[in-house]
Amino acid sequence: MRPQILYPLFASAATLPGIGAKSLKLVERLTGGKVVDLLWHLPNGVVDRRRIVPVGQAAPGEIATFTVRVEEHLPGRSARQPYRVRCADSTGVLDLVFFHARGDWLLKQFPVGQDRVVSGRVEFFQATAQMPHPDRIGTPEELDSIAVVEPQYPLTAGLTSRMLAKASEAALKTLPTLPEWQDPHWLSRRKWPDWAAAVKEAHNPDDLAAVDPSHPARQRLAFDELLANQLALALVRRSQRGVKGRPLKGTGRLREKVLAGLPFGLTGSQNFVIGEIDADMASTKRMLRLLQGDVGSGKTAVALMAMLTAVETGAQAALLAPTDILARQHLETIEAMAKPAGLTIALLTGRAKGRPRAELLERLASGEIDIVIGTHALLQEDVAFRDLAFAVIDEQHRFGVHQRLSLSAKGAGMDVLVMTATPIPRTLQLTAYGDMEVSRLTEKPPGRKPVDTRALPLDRLSDIVNAVERKLAGGEKIYWVCPLVDESEVSDLAAATERHAFLRARFGDRVGLVHGKLKPAEKDRVMADFIEGGVDILVATTVIEVGVNVPAATVMVIEHAERFGLAQLHQLRGRIGRGDGASSCLLLYAAPLGETAKARIATLRETEDGFRIAEEDLRLRGAGEVLGTRQSGMPTFRLADIAIHGDLLQAARDDVKLILDRDPELSGPRGEALRVLLYLFERDAAVRYLRSG
Ligand code: ADP
Ligand code: MG
Repeated sequence: MRPQILYPLFASAATLPGIGAKSLKLVERLTGGKVVDLLWHLPNGVVDRRRIVPVGQAAPGEIATFTVRVEEHLPGRSARQPYRVRCADSTGVLDLVFFHARGDWLLKQFPVGQDRVVSGRVEFFQATAQMPHPDRIGTPEELDSIAVVEPQYPLTAGLTSRMLAKASEAALKTLPTLPEWQDPHWLSRRKWPDWAAAVKEAHNPDDLAAVDPSHPARQRLAFDELLANQLALALVRRSQRGVKGRPLKGTGRLREKVLAGLPFGLTGSQNFVIGEIDADMASTKRMLRLLQGDVGSGKTAVALMAMLTAVETGAQAALLAPTDILARQHLETIEAMAKPAGLTIALLTGRAKGRPRAELLERLASGEIDIVIGTHALLQEDVAFRDLAFAVIDEQHRFGVHQRLSLSAKGAGMDVLVMTATPIPRTLQLTAYGDMEVSRLTEKPPGRKPVDTRALPLDRLSDIVNAVERKLAGGEKIYWVCPLVDESEVSDLAAATERHAFLRARFGDRVGLVHGKLKPAEKDRVMADFIEGGVDILVATTVIEVGVNVPAATVMVIEHAERFGLAQLHQLRGRIGRGDGASSCLLLYAAPLGETAKARIATLRETEDGFRIAEEDLRLRGAGEVLGTRQSGMPTFRLADIAIHGDLLQAARDDVKLILDRDPELSGPRGEALRVLLYLFERDAAVRYLRSG
């Protein structure tokens, strides 16, 4: 239960002045709609209205505040002409200029002969100072409240900074006095304010330096958020570790057979990682290990070796894949590799229904099936095992922690290996997985031909289409990834549909289209046509199935490559270069390229090392974008920016270790305060892992 002291912060933003029913919707979309969400929505700029000058000293382009007398109203002579309110002080004339203005409103605001304070940007028109649409208007008594530094907030259409500033101001008045959860020595060493002061400072910046992430108030708040994140992860981890695992020691009997049958030897990297997994499985602790390796680095073989260990001890193993297609591909690969071991391997997807499904479930429950490969269908409640000792979860990002747990519930003390092809920089890894053990496949299987990567301006499109035609004639298949328009699915889809029509006009039915709006079954069908049907060019938005293996695909065309992130481009390129043939990746860009885009493309041409690329991506872009907004499962931070506050993340992790060593159940005074912190950042679930949570 959320502590009472936090109730005011979790009230609806509608309780704040200036936020009515209509703006509430916008606020909800922009920030989340609770008072606390508004507090986390920090200014990203300032407007300084403190320059109070006589009109005669106004400089063009500057923002200034004037006290002037209203002299006359000059309505426009036609609808297109602006309405002018001529004002002046003893040093000169200032025209206030209004387009589409309502005369009656202006007459009320600016009665002739009276003094008014106006603040806004000054322009000059034929030597006359003018101010189009003053930002602030008031009486001379209001000068002090107008001539201030105003925070500027990130906005959405329909909301103004002024509305958000007013609402935040009101929210700041209700700030409860929360107990201090930070270590006092650390606070004083960093010269950070207490929480309430930090929130207030962050919303009332004095200057541009105060909206910088390095400002003490901002650092404090970022650290609070990171500490909540790391503490929550540590608590979840501890509870998972707390459940006793079972030691799984393989005999090597099945492994030997499988290894003898493989047409290749394992790479050094694969053997090393298998060693790490073996040690985990053999221990009495539960394994929760992340296996990272680029597409094609040979994760499946590693997973199989681990599954064999489980089967050798007489237990069962499962592999959970995010889509039907991937489950099927895993089945094919694993069946082929495992053949010499004579295992019983089965597939369970959402397509299994009725009798066949019931039979399959029986065989799982009886233990006849050694290894099952499947999708979400594996998580259904009626799926039971005789003895599930080990599970592999492929492509982690599609599955939430919740699903991971529901799989863990199907076997007592089960070991879990999570596989991902998305190389995650170490800092980000920490935010998503905490101290989860990590294995990395750093070496690719031998014989891989590097992908020939080239960048070309978009105006060479017709040359590219001709090149595509030659490739098609040679029996090759082509991915054509459409421009990222604005990360809104609708416009991305429009661009893809248009390109699809264009290519179809030239190549007919050999062109297919896959995008995020398709139903999973339709998507699977198009992918299946591309894998083995009549589709040779696959036009796609960025949603191409992660990990799908189409060895005949040798060309990847990416339009508007400058709009994609580095990691994203790397992932896309990873779809090709999987067969024996040489592959090429064509990055089409709109000239001229910006510096960042140039750096990205250069990195991509230079290396195919996903880990190096991921680090570089983080450096170039900042964390928020590294994994793409569409990828769920990664925490998003409101106050911390991992690219900038990476050192704070490390510090938060170290702090959490100390905290839990000293007060494992968070029951001392600081512990109590830390519980408030967890609720403040909505890590409620983590509190449940504490005694008397
Ligand atoms: P990932 O799942 O990491 O994308 P896979 O496990 O699907 O990669 O492996 C990609 C391809 O490489 C498969 O065809 C697999 O048989 C092959 N492969 C795996 N390990 C090796 C190896 N040590 N030597 C040669 N080929 C390998
Ligand atoms: Mg794979």
